[in-house]
Amino acid sequence: MKLKVLGTQSPYNIAGHNSPGFLITDGDEKLLLDCGSGSHSLLNFPRDLKNLVIFLTHLHRDHYNDIYNLQYASHVFHNQGRLKNPITVYLPKTPASIYTDIIKEPNAYAEYYYLSHQYTLYIGDMRIYFMPTDHPVETYAVKVTDGKSTIVYTSDTSFTVKDDMVKFAKGADLLICESSLLKRHGFPEINSHLTAEQAAIIARDARVKMLMLTHFWPEEPVEDYEAEAKTVFDNVVTARESEEFII
Ligand SMILES: [Zn+2]
Ligand SMILES: [Zn+2]
Repeated sequence: MKLKVLGTQSPYNIAGHNSPGFLITDGDEKLLLDCGSGSHSLLNFPRDLKNLVIFLTHLHRDHYNDIYNLQYASHVFHNQGRLKNPITVYLPKTPASIYTDIIKEPNAYAEYYYLSHQYTLYIGDMRIYFMPTDHPVETYAVKVTDGKSTIVYTSDTSFTVKDDMVKFAKGADLLICESSLLKRHGFPEINSHLTAEQAAIIARDARVKMLMLTHFWPEEPVEDYEAEAKTVFDNVVTARESEEFII
C-alpha cells in the first residue's frame, strides 16, 4: 500500500500545511482518510476521483471541510464525461444536521454510507475495520490491511480508550496517531486528545513497527512532539504534507 500525507495540522492550518487527510492507494483502489481544510489540494484531479472511497472519521470541521470541494469536483467532472463512476463517502450518522447537510448536497456525484464498527469493508485486496474512539462526537479509528501490511489511523481520541486502541493497532506496520498536545500543555484529560507521549505509549504497547505523529498545533514546532514521543518509543516520524511511504 502507498500512503500520501495530505494534511497534518488542526484546528486550523498555516501556509504550506493542511488539516487532516491521508490517501492510501492499493492497485487501482484509493482510500481517503479524512479531508480537512486544504487537504484536497494535494490530490491529482480528476485521476484521484476514480475509484475513490472517502472516510470521514468524524464530523468536526478540521476533518470534513474539504468534502464539499470533492463533491463539487465529482459533479463537474461527471458532467464533463471525465468521471464515470460516483465517488463513495462513508461518514458517521451524527451530528445529524451535518450528516444530512453533506448527503443532501445537490452538486455531487457521490454515494453515501454510514460508518459503523459493526461491519468490515472489503475494497479490492484491502479489508477495513473501524473502532469507536472517545471524542465529543461519534468518531472512528480506521484499520486498513491488505493481508501483507497494516495501517491504523486513530483519528481523534482521548486516552480513555487506550486499551482498545492497543488491541486494534496490535502489530501494525504503521500507526498514524493524533498527538494534538504536548505534556507541557497540561490538559489532555479535559481536551479529548492525546499527547505525543500518550501516542507513543499506544505505539509501544501495541508493538507497532512505526509511529507517525500528526494533528499538530500550528504554533508548536513538530520537533517537540517527536522528542516527547521518543522518550517512550524509538521509531517515530512526524507527518509532513506531500510525503509518501510504501507500507
Ligand atoms: Zn475532532
Ligand atoms: Zn481533529
